[in-house]
Amino acid sequence: MTRLVIVGGGHAAAQLAASLAEKQFPGSIVLVSDEPEIPYHRPPLSKTLIKDPEAPLPELRGASFYEQAGITLKLGTRAVAIDRAGKRLRLSSSAGQEDLAYDHLVLATGACVRELPQAPVGTPGVHYLRTYAQARALRDALPGAQRVVVLGGGFIGLELAATARHLGKEVTVFEAMPRLLTRSVSPEISSFLLETHRGAGVDIRLGSTVDGLEMAQDRAVGVVSGGVVVPADIIIAGIGATPNVDLAREAGLTCDNGIVVDATLATGDPAISAIGDCTSFPHPAWPQPLRLESVQNANDQARTLAARLCGDPQPYTAVPWFWSDQGEARLQITGLWRPGYESVVRPAARGKGFSVLHFEGDALRAIESVNSPVDQMTARKLMQAGLSPAKGTAADPAVPLKA
Ligand code: FAD
Ligand code: NAP
Repeated sequence: MTRLVIVGGGHAAAQLAASLAEKQFPGSIVLVSDEPEIPYHRPPLSKTLIKDPEAPLPELRGASFYEQAGITLKLGTRAVAIDRAGKRLRLSSSAGQEDLAYDHLVLATGACVRELPQAPVGTPGVHYLRTYAQARALRDALPGAQRVVVLGGGFIGLELAATARHLGKEVTVFEAMPRLLTRSVSPEISSFLLETHRGAGVDIRLGSTVDGLEMAQDRAVGVVSGGVVVPADIIIAGIGATPNVDLAREAGLTCDNGIVVDATLATGDPAISAIGDCTSFPHPAWPQPLRLESVQNANDQARTLAARLCGDPQPYTAVPWFWSDQGEARLQITGLWRPGYESVVRPAARGKGFSVLHFEGDALRAIESVNSPVDQMTARKLMQAGLSPAKGTAADPAVPLKA
């Protein structure tokens, strides 16, 4: 019987296991994760979980799902080496080392936090957020902290800044770039978020890097920026993520800002595929390879790969979409914004929400919506069908978005 081994315990790995079970994959499946928990939702870690001391592990699927589907879970177990010639995976856990044979191997190793050189993970007083364990540590520390300093005006930094402010904390955000979320959103959305967070009382400092940390008895108690010390009861570093590629690279697979895969998510080794945050993949809508860090991409790549492993190969062409909750603002994005697109602002038909539509010629390339879910979903469906709404009337909320 074919043995499929999945390395990873995140969204991509869990969705692949679920899609294969649904398609009645004719082989055995082993899922290896170095986290001790069964796969769980990561988005609540920076949103609801941090506010609720009672919130349980937000499991993607209960343990009974894996049991009933006959999927073997090897949790708290790290894959440390791939023997490609022998098709064996070396595993390491507190119980020791073992080798696991595979017929097909899937790398769904995700990403890990980018670390501040001055404050690696584990530095007392500094919090990073990627895992349930880190979220619990932050949740436990927040009640005793009044001054919260956030490094990074990206998704994690802004979601946590909004939450901490909502809990009544004094919050300061340092962002290295001249605007918020530079790589992910358009200048229009950056400006809106800046105004919203500042309006809520968050002190946002753009173009500000941190030169060092103020330490007291091995604990970080402030950050130094421009020669000035900003005291902090806790520091949260949300300065980006790095794809987990060491396992692939050491096995001789090509890696370039992610594990390089083709349109069917295969690596250069026909017995190894890769999915999720760890991949660099071609997409027909963009000239350069993409590496996306989103739940949609992890799930949709898993579904595409499950289809191939069950005998129905297809290229991966899903239109990217994302969301972020920052205080009262629900940001939803479909497509990818790039500089040079023509932007059209469209107020929502009801309420104070709005969308920014980004066109290349007449083709809609991205739509960013703030509290405007109807326009977001309408445009998303059009883009998924390869269509664009009429640009000439896109600014008029009285005219529905239609191709
Ligand atoms: P991951 O979820 O990173 O999973 C990778 C797994 O592989 C991990 O369990 C890791 O421990 C394991 N692993 C790695 N190497 C090994 C190894 N050698 N051996 C064994 N196991 C290994 N995205 C959105 O779209 N919307 C959101 O609102 C959103 N909010 C987020 C909030 C937070 C706090 C974080 C951290 C991320 C958020 N994201 C959000 C991003 C989203 O969670 C990721 O894009 C998604 O988790 C990617 O899934 P993945 O399975 O590819 O990788
Ligand atoms: P991110 O969105 O990439 O943002 C990190 C920000 O920090 C960037 O603007 C970065 O600037 C800046 N930065 C880097 N070094 C800095 C420094 N030393 N001082 C101050 N600012 C610095 O990454 P993230 O917010 O850390 O999130 C990590 C991962 O979680 C990503 O995969 C993200 O997509 C995911 N996530 C997603 C969501 C969501 O989709 N809603 C929510 C939370 C987390 P540069 O651009 O110049 O590097």
